[in-house]
Amino acid sequence: MIDPKILAQFKVAPGSKVDLGDYPTDWTETDEAKELGKKTIKKRAVEILEESKERLSVAQELLYASNTHSVLIILQAIDAAGKDGTIRHVMSGVNPQGCQVFSFKKPSAEELDHNFLWRYMKALPERGRIGIFNRSYYEDVLVVRVHPEWLGPGSPAEPDKKFWEKRYEDINNFEKHLVRNGTLILKFFLHLSKEEQRERFLDRIQNPEKHWKFSADDMAEREHWKDYRKAFEAALTATSTKHAPWHVIPADRKYVSRAAIADIITTSIQGLGLRYPEVGEEQMKAIEEARRKLERPSKDEG
Ligand code: ATP
Ligand code: MG
Repeated sequence: MIDPKILAQFKVAPGSKVDLGDYPTDWTETDEAKELGKKTIKKRAVEILEESKERLSVAQELLYASNTHSVLIILQAIDAAGKDGTIRHVMSGVNPQGCQVFSFKKPSAEELDHNFLWRYMKALPERGRIGIFNRSYYEDVLVVRVHPEWLGPGSPAEPDKKFWEKRYEDINNFEKHLVRNGTLILKFFLHLSKEEQRERFLDRIQNPEKHWKFSADDMAEREHWKDYRKAFEAALTATSTKHAPWHVIPADRKYVSRAAIADIITTSIQGLGLRYPEVGEEQMKAIEEARRKLERPSKDEG
């Protein structure tokens, strides 16, 4: 497990004003990490990811069996921060039947004809399951805050501060409703530096097998770096709540972000204090009877 003191630094304290400059993008460059050395950190991070995956597999089985809670994991980031790879690695040990991933792209005309939370409500995890939102309703206060022209019909052409504040409030209320109904909400912002994004884009360009990942749209969005940063800071400030806090995960080193996210997810599910359902008298009788039959099979059983 990662030292909880380190993980606590990634958590956005509810009510605090977020300045992303206060959060590292490369944890291995922090004073704390320098003492350990990069090699040791990488080795430990890989071990922690493996340990967390095993713990997560057990925790998920219990989540499924107890059937009292669901888990909603939200991943937000700018392009090339590693959302897909995180999902692939962190969830690789989990029973696929207990886990659902939804990726949200530009909304369809039908989706834009509904309230902005509609399409996400339909994708929420059932009790006993883990749902991952690869992008989420936070896009509706992030990408469209940078590009208000992409808001659906019926929205103001030039939304003011009040408009966004109302959306934050809607999100906070929505999340409160989910938490009250047994959902554990874990929100991660993968915090990538502009320089690391440049290198990852270049890598996609220089590597023919990665050409399919290159997107001219991503290049266009990079031009709006400062606006995205402001939109993220405002959203994290307004929506890191006691019931659904944000984690700002340093994303320049994939092994750091994956280990941190895997650890936080696992520890949080374990923190729910779930139990296997109690077996009633009737069920115990049925088990006893089955045991008797199976231990001494009759001839006609074949
Ligand atoms: P990948 O590139 O790894 O396939 P991705 O999540 O970047 O994953 P894309 O199809 O490249 O997927 O991009 C989806 C786009 O849809 C993003 O630019 C995102 O900002 C945009 N989008 C998502 N939700 C909304 C929304 N509610 N309103 C407008 N745009 C949205
Ligand atoms: Mg993309």
